[in-house]
Amino acid sequence: MDTQMLIGPKFENGAETEEPILNPKTGATILNLPEASQAQIGAAVTAAEQAFVLWSRTTPAQRSGYLLKIADRIEAEAKEFAALEALNCGKPINAVLNDEIPAIVDCYRFFAGAVRSMPGVVAGEYLPGHTSMVRRDPIGIVASIAPWNYPLMMMAWKLAPAIAGGNTVVFKPSEQTPLTALKLARILAEVLPKGVVNVVLGRGDSVGNTLINHAKVNMISITGDVATGKKVLQAAAKSVKRTHLELGGKAPVIVFDDADLGAVVNGLRAFGYYNAGQDCTAACRIYAGKKIYDKLVADLSSAVSTIKFNQPDDTENEIGPLISRRQRDRVSSFVERASELKHIEITTGGKPGEGSGFYYQPTVVAGALQEDEIVRREVFGPVVSITRFSEVDEAVNWANDSDYGLASSVWTKDVSRAMATAARLQYGCTWINTHFMLTNEMPHGGLKQSGYGKDMSLYALEDYTAVRHVMVAHA
Ligand code: NAD
Repeated sequence: MDTQMLIGPKFENGAETEEPILNPKTGATILNLPEASQAQIGAAVTAAEQAFVLWSRTTPAQRSGYLLKIADRIEAEAKEFAALEALNCGKPINAVLNDEIPAIVDCYRFFAGAVRSMPGVVAGEYLPGHTSMVRRDPIGIVASIAPWNYPLMMMAWKLAPAIAGGNTVVFKPSEQTPLTALKLARILAEVLPKGVVNVVLGRGDSVGNTLINHAKVNMISITGDVATGKKVLQAAAKSVKRTHLELGGKAPVIVFDDADLGAVVNGLRAFGYYNAGQDCTAACRIYAGKKIYDKLVADLSSAVSTIKFNQPDDTENEIGPLISRRQRDRVSSFVERASELKHIEITTGGKPGEGSGFYYQPTVVAGALQEDEIVRREVFGPVVSITRFSEVDEAVNWANDSDYGLASSVWTKDVSRAMATAARLQYGCTWINTHFMLTNEMPHGGLKQSGYGKDMSLYALEDYTAVRHVMVAHA
């Protein structure tokens, strides 16, 4: 197992406090990893600064070549990456191997192509006697900070557009899930020029905080909690750094009476509980029309009660445990508080799983009202609430009545109603008759307190490059 940080060309152990890395399926400690010292964080930023001189002058074709090599190496070691991610996050091995790894490989390949064909305003004589052109140039050193729910995928979403755009990076994985980042660091050290990507370990309030406040860092990219995003904005304000924020979500799902009930139930069973609901786009806040409501609650509850987890043969598992005991207890306390309300019924689940792992039963919370905490706050666990609505305006208003604005979906057989409703939703993404599906060509990112950074797609390349105007006088 790779345990060392990457600073310039060197692999080093952290010099500070050790953090335990846990196996969420058992609660056992896999190993302890020390975090980076101030000096090591400084050295990583210096390595990125030195690498920027040459890296920022490489051609898009050259950078594309490097990205394709990274993709090939991850693909060649897909099984090892998947096993490590499954171990550190508790994910079912098949979910990592068949869903995540191909999307990660494709992310590097997408940006390898995209950087060679960026569109833009045409050069021309917009003032007589002067030719103007627009360039897109690198921003500089990016401090890149990832969460624990999809460690290797979040690393791909952040590294691929940043280095494609000619930037250099100091990357910090979540202190809970650093193992695949450390494995990828070995590959990056072999493939890339030294210092283009550096990987440091540590907690948010120590290593993360030092990194985002570093004077030489030009941009901060973070995926995490809204509260963390606000700290990033405060740090960025001191020296006017660019920020790329991907924060939480609480996705509304509007189910009209004419929706295909079977498709809705299958969709919610899959997309409400995938990754044990630890997903900022999880289909977790259902608004069901008054005619379909009872049948939806009954059918969804019986479908959700069949979700397989904590089976000894991991290939049978559909979901894993929560990432930590703390996260499991947090989910548990949300459901306990909801169940104390008279109008709420827990129709399936509602308890922690058995054993020492951090499992929580897939849960349906029926009868929830718009003002309930379970409807308003991000639970980030295998818990879906269902609320009954009467009129389309009520459903749309409730859906939009949220601090979050990342993802949403609308389920109906009426295409006009679907389009009219989608147009009114204040979310970065609206799916119709599906949910959760992502593709590297399309942007992923939010509105409101979900942040404003776009991952994947050409929009991410725009986020990680600066628009510049160059004007030439003819005489
Ligand atoms: P978190 O905010 O606690 O941590 C995210 C990362 O930020 C970690 O690496 C952490 O060490 C670091 N961090 C924490 N405090 C910091 C500080 N003061 N300075 C610098 N870095 C700091 O979030 P988490 O618990 O790891 O992840 C779950 C959250 O992430 C959820 O709220 C979820 O919705 C969100 N998320 C959003 C998206 C998206 O695309 N919008 C994707 C995945 C997760």
